[in-house]
Formats: sequence, structure tokens, C-alpha cells
Amino acid sequence: MDPAEALRSLPKAELHQHLDGSLRPETAVELAADAGMDLSLDEARRRMVGPERCRDQAELLSYFDLPIALLQTEAALERASFELVEDLVADGVTYAEIRWAPRLHLEAGLSVAAVIDAVAAGVARATREAGDREVLVNLIVTAMRSHPPGANVELARTAGAAGGLVVGFDLAGPEEAWPAPPHAAAFLAAREVGLALTAHAGEVAGEQRVREVLDFGVRRVAHGVTAAGDDALLQLLRARGVTLDLCPTSNVQAGIVASLADHPIGVLHRAGVSVTISTDDRTVTGVSLSEEMARTASAQQLTGHELAEIALNGYARAFASPSALAPIRAAAARAWDAWRTEGRIS
Ligand SMILES: [Zn+2]
Repeated sequence: MDPAEALRSLPKAELHQHLDGSLRPETAVELAADAGMDLSLDEARRRMVGPERCRDQAELLSYFDLPIALLQTEAALERASFELVEDLVADGVTYAEIRWAPRLHLEAGLSVAAVIDAVAAGVARATREAGDREVLVNLIVTAMRSHPPGANVELARTAGAAGGLVVGFDLAGPEEAWPAPPHAAAFLAAREVGLALTAHAGEVAGEQRVREVLDFGVRRVAHGVTAAGDDALLQLLRARGVTLDLCPTSNVQAGIVASLADHPIGVLHRAGVSVTISTDDRTVTGVSLSEEMARTASAQQLTGHELAEIALNGYARAFASPSALAPIRAAAARAWDAWRTEGRIS
């Protein structure tokens, strides 16, 4: 059996994926028609699926422009969220955290609270249909580096007040142009309202950018790839138990690493740093989590034991309440243990 197909039937957790970058191109065509725009499926794919390799992070981010422009109504946000959970379930994902930046969806007059409610409604409808006991999906609200620090403080407070599925607070956007430190107050506000903290960093050169978000007290870093090679920083990650939510294909696309074989995920895992695997965005990267795990394991020559450890770490490092996640996590541990003992591993 194709390795990705074999992994599809195993329960998986995905902690790092963006709603906008996972919009189905077919749905984009329909949303465009609703908005009176003429968009063919070919054109949608051309503008939403990234090339194997971009010039830089800025070019990769341009593939989010179309989906963000189309996701400006409650109905569109609800549908995109519902369909992403459908895609996750079809891929064998039993726990997921979906993130997105509510302040990028205000162009048609929605409030931040309305944007959050629409996404939560789509997720709730999909998980109900999939069976609440088998699938758990939570939300992470992303603040943009380029937005005013005061607006991001307000975002953190609104996200905290939304409660329910919103469990985390994140920072994203062009790292080179927009440093993280001005957003320290937003992270403080997020912590005060009880959200778990994560941030994008380490997608462009300079390990200092990873250190800046560690100063916020994040439990996880999205990417953090540039930490590899800096022993003092790796020691700090281990000492604080900080997890790197890695997306190897996306990192190749962004030009951070030359190829999947050159990605530091295997080295980091063997050095005792907590890592997980995600797609980042199913449409922009063009991979499912099963495919991402299969191709990463192959390129990195991960043993089955190592792949199982990394896969189960996704459940261990989740922002979900431990009691809500317990039965799903236990089922995943049983399935991966059985897979390991069946001797399908090297
Ligand atoms: Zn990301």
C-alpha cells in the first residue's frame, strides 16, 4: 500500500494549519460567483496552490490573498471551516487546531466577534456530523505582525470572551518587516484571558526571531526552523518544554530549507526537542497530513518508532483541555502502538 494511504487510517493530530490557506479551490470558484467575480477553477488553483519553491516568505504569503478576499461573510467563513473539518476527518485527523486571523476578515463590515462565531459554527457543525466523540477541533486566533499592537490587544480580549472552541493565541505575518516585540502586550492580554500561547517565528534567517517570541512565554512555536544549529537556543527550547510545530513541505516552499531531506525535523527530534508535523495549509502546500508524514518520514529516514513518537506528540502538546482530549488521545496511542508492533516499521 502507498505509505500515505497506510497513514491515512491512523489517528493523527494536526496543530498547525491555516483556514484561509486550506480553502478548497472548488469552493473558491463558488464563493467568487456569489460575489459576482468571474473565477475559473484553473485560475483559482493558480492563485491558491503555491509552487514547490517561492523566492521568499513574502511570495508564499501572496497565495493567501485570494482566499482571504473571498472569506468576508459569515456564510463563507462557516462553509470554509465546515469543509476544512470534513477534509481533516477524511485524512484521519482526530484532533486539530485551526488558526486564522479574524482581523483579515473585516472588509465587508463583520466584527471580530462575528468572524470568530462564524468559524466556530462551521467547525461545530462538522464535528457534530463526524461524531463528537471521535473528533475534537479547537481554534487558535492569529494576530498579524503588521497590525497595530493596540488592535491585537483588543483581538486577544475578544477571543478570550468568545470562549468555547477558542483555545489559543498566535502571531503571524512577514517576519523581516515586522518584529514581534511590539506585540508583547497582546500576548499578555491573551494570557490574562486564559488562552494558550504560540507564535510564528523562524521562517526567515536569524535565531533572534525565535528568542523574541519565547520571551512572550509561548508553549509552542510555529516553524522555528532557524533554531536548528544554535545549541544555546535548542537548550532553551528543551529546558522550557517548548514545541516546534513544523511543516516541512511549507518550509521548502518558503525557501527556508533546500529540500525535505535537508529539513531539521529529524535532527531536532533526535536532539530531544519537542516537534510535531503539520501541513500549514492544505491548499497552498497541496498536501494532506498523511502525505506530509509519509514524504517527511521517507526523506528524513525516520524509523516507524520515531514517526509514531512525533505523531503522538501532536496530542501531547495540544492546547485542548486534557480531560476533553483524553479518550481521543488514548485511542490514538493504541492505534500507533498496534501499528508499531505489527512490524510495519523499520
Ligand atoms: Zn503557519
